[in-house]
Amino acid sequence: MSKKVRVRFAPSPTGGLHLGGVRTVLFNYLFAKQQGGDFIVRIEDTDQKRFVAGAEAYIFNCLQWCGLTPDESVVQGGPYAPYRQSERKELYRQYAEQLIKDGHAYYAFDTPAEIEQMRELLKIKGSSSLQYDHAVRMNMNNSLRLLPEETQQLLQAGTPYVIRIKIKADEFINFTDLIRGDISFDTNVVDDKVLLKADGMPTYHLAVVVDDFLMKITHAFRGEEWLPSAPVHILLWQYLFGLNHMPQWAHLPLILKPDGNGKLSKRDGDRLGFPVYAMDWSDPVTHEVSKGFKELGFLPEAFINLLAALGWNDGTEQEIFSMEELIDKFSIEKVHKGGAKFDFEKAKWFNHEWIKKLEVDQYAARVKIIFESNGITISDDNYLKRVMELVKERCTLLPDFFTQGSFFFMAPVSVDTAAIAPKWDEKKNMFFMELIKAWQLSTLWNATDLELSFKELAAANQLKTGELMLPLRIMLVGGKFGPGVFEIADAIGKEATIKRIEHTLSLLQ
Ligand code: GLU
Repeated sequence: MSKKVRVRFAPSPTGGLHLGGVRTVLFNYLFAKQQGGDFIVRIEDTDQKRFVAGAEAYIFNCLQWCGLTPDESVVQGGPYAPYRQSERKELYRQYAEQLIKDGHAYYAFDTPAEIEQMRELLKIKGSSSLQYDHAVRMNMNNSLRLLPEETQQLLQAGTPYVIRIKIKADEFINFTDLIRGDISFDTNVVDDKVLLKADGMPTYHLAVVVDDFLMKITHAFRGEEWLPSAPVHILLWQYLFGLNHMPQWAHLPLILKPDGNGKLSKRDGDRLGFPVYAMDWSDPVTHEVSKGFKELGFLPEAFINLLAALGWNDGTEQEIFSMEELIDKFSIEKVHKGGAKFDFEKAKWFNHEWIKKLEVDQYAARVKIIFESNGITISDDNYLKRVMELVKERCTLLPDFFTQGSFFFMAPVSVDTAAIAPKWDEKKNMFFMELIKAWQLSTLWNATDLELSFKELAAANQLKTGELMLPLRIMLVGGKFGPGVFEIADAIGKEATIKRIEHTLSLLQ
């Protein structure tokens, strides 16, 4: 019987959640759900120096917004709790000590100054590598070079130390990546990474392997930036638990700057005017706020869809995928090896498509908040939804509903009479005066009948409807935009329609 699929997203709570991070979550989630497996979120907070208050709660808020609910996590709990590594601190030391016993790790007592000195020496010698590795370790202050009694003495005296992995020279570490195929690393370029720090905390390398084992992780999908760490992790698996327990790896392609020149960073977003975080992130120290996709007016469905498209497609022309379809069609083998360029225009296209595709009910609450934050109180939700239906074709981001639809709720702040004036004459003025009278008496207030009466009156006055429609639109809307003009009149009602026509006529006098 094959093992139950268990995947994990293992963020370090160090700041805003980059879209690359959410895509890692998404690919893990899709795979788990497709395989009937579990999706675990484990907080990797062993690096106290990089810890940022609020980042953990923020990550869970982002996941909630995206609809990527973990099966096990700090929030949901689960059989392998705690899911926060700082709370598992005591657990890792025994593995580091086991490695020492087995000859795969050692105590290192070097002070930062001594390490710096070693690097200076390597520089003088013209060495291409400045690492703590097989080439230098026998000159350093560690348990490999010291006599056992000396090591014991230092330990008993409470001398600060770290535990380092002992990477053997001249070997190759091979593994198969589900996206990249067979990969081989030369151990000569891998340094003796610290596994346990002087403060007793494990480093990421030790903690990730121990926890993936204890939490029975079967597949580890993570960003390509972790590929250089893979040889250390594979050796730890081999030394501690045996390679047959190791998860299958997949290193996801980077998300690149729009021009393809390197990894997309927050700075690129600032420079080019688009968000790179899922939701607004406010730095607790500088209070600088970085914009998020959510607050800019993206729908979670669109955000998920655009992330899935960054490095994956199902081999067909289809671009719009719902979460259900993604769960059905996703395959890790179809994820591309090469980086995926981020294109904000394309991202907005996805949002536009989803705005059109979804029932307005599904996002009316968010649009209502946007109207209210712009000073328009919505007392009738059904009216808001009717307006949303009328303008959704014209909206790319949710705030567009306000710019495209505010005139349904209040008279336009300004009316572009300059666009009417050049072709305005007494005949047209008369027409609109008559129109007011006709519409005042009208008992049939709907788009079809309004259009009919408008056209009849135009014909009776020997005027072309084409020449009258634009002025009417500008009267009702304020400018040259918006959905069908009779639909607008229908929606805003008789009183508002007539008032707006009268107002513009007075401006044109
Ligand atoms: N803690 C790592 C991070 O911050 C996780 C890398 C991994 O998934 O192994 O992204």
